[in-house]
Amino acid sequence: MDRLTCRGCGETYGGSLHGLENGGSCPTCGGKLARRSDDTEDVLAERLRAYCESTLPVVAHYESTNPGILHRVDAAQGSDAIYSVLSALVDWEMQKAE
Ligand SMILES: [Zn+2]
Repeated sequence: MDRLTCRGCGETYGGSLHGLENGGSCPTCGGKLARRSDDTEDVLAERLRAYCESTLPVVAHYESTNPGILHRVDAAQGSDAIYSVLSALVDWEMQKAE
């Protein structure tokens, strides 16, 4: 549980990946970096359990019944990039429907 979040701009960093520490300064805005209080092994285990139980069956369903409407997005690329990809996919799907 190495994730740090800036209290100033909200950017997240991997502490060891980016050479940053809890209480250090955000490289983007200089704000204070803090570990989320819910960023624990127990919370992560629950998120993974819920993902396996609730999300993976939906993916498997669409892979087998209608793979053309299933899109995979790399969630490691940052929220702005993810938003751009999702917006483009929605636009593309809406154009297909017209
Ligand atoms: Zn910041």
